Amino acid sequence: MRIDLHTHSDVSDGTASPASVVRDAAAAGLDVVALTDHDTTLGWQEAERAAREVGIDLVRGLEVSCTHQGRGLHLLVYLPDPTHPGLNDLLGRIVEGRDGRVPAMLAGLRDAGVAIDRADLEREGSRTAATGRPHVADALVRLGVVASRDEAFRDWLDPGRPGYVDRWAAPVTDMVRVVAEAGGVTVVAHPWGRGGRAALPEEEIAVLAAAGLAGVEVDHQDHDDADRARLREVAAELALVVTGASDHHGTGKVDHDLGCHTTDPEQYERLLALAAASAAASGRSAPGVVRPR
Ligand code: AMP
Ligand code: FE
Ligand code: FE
Ligand code: ZN
Repeated sequence: MRIDLHTHSDVSDGTASPASVVRDAAAAGLDVVALTDHDTTLGWQEAERAAREVGIDLVRGLEVSCTHQGRGLHLLVYLPDPTHPGLNDLLGRIVEGRDGRVPAMLAGLRDAGVAIDRADLEREGSRTAATGRPHVADALVRLGVVASRDEAFRDWLDPGRPGYVDRWAAPVTDMVRVVAEAGGVTVVAHPWGRGGRAALPEEEIAVLAAAGLAGVEVDHQDHDDADRARLREVAAELALVVTGASDHHGTGKVDHDLGCHTTDPEQYERLLALAAASAAASGRSAPGVVRPR
């Protein structure tokens, strides 16, 4: 059983459609794939159709932009009722925050001598729920200002750079609670990724566990061997599920091929058991895994 629980399509900042991501996952020999676009469930229906076509299990999820103690944090959310009003309220605010800051970003870039307008951006991520920094990065690449998304972030879009503008994200403990109300489960994404261990100190993982967090994404390209070993220990101490995944973004991120990291089948079963318990306790009609075989 090969299980990849973190992928993005072009309804957020991946470069392939939800159907292509699912088909490519099957072609890559995966048995289970989760679609986890940033802050939106827009790709779920298309992904479900493709999963039934090619015969791969599909976990419907999202990756939600959160904050904790003044720092950004990504939360993987699996199998919530997508019609839950509280969940939709928070997601709506995140998406509006991301989209709403684009004019200020473009103004910052213009002041620094790089002229991009809305028309340039509309060519990038035309299906996306919200235009964000990855799409601005793609426009910078297309216009020949930089050679890659990574370079665009480093020189223009990271904090302190001319195109950076802060935006609203959901307080993580609110999000964990709302997802439980919606019958889903939460896993903290790449906790020691770009920000390193300071991004989420170990004591804070315990705080999230106490708030109802189900798991920790351990096997991820942004974690080195020492990080993974320590995160496994932390997860064991807190009885958290351990996951691994590609965080695939199509051609938007290099070295994140589908299935480059996977989740142990036993850990996956634990996660599904927690999701089933959450769905039952919530009284919502949570979607469950699409199992075409
Ligand atoms: P935004 O939500 O508009 O601030 O954009 C943040 C998104 O950009 C994250 O979810 C990442 O997927 C992506 N991202 C952040 N840093 C980088 C980077 N250095 N290279 C490529 N993508 C990045
Ligand atoms: Fe992304
Ligand atoms: Fe992320
Ligand atoms: Zn991701």
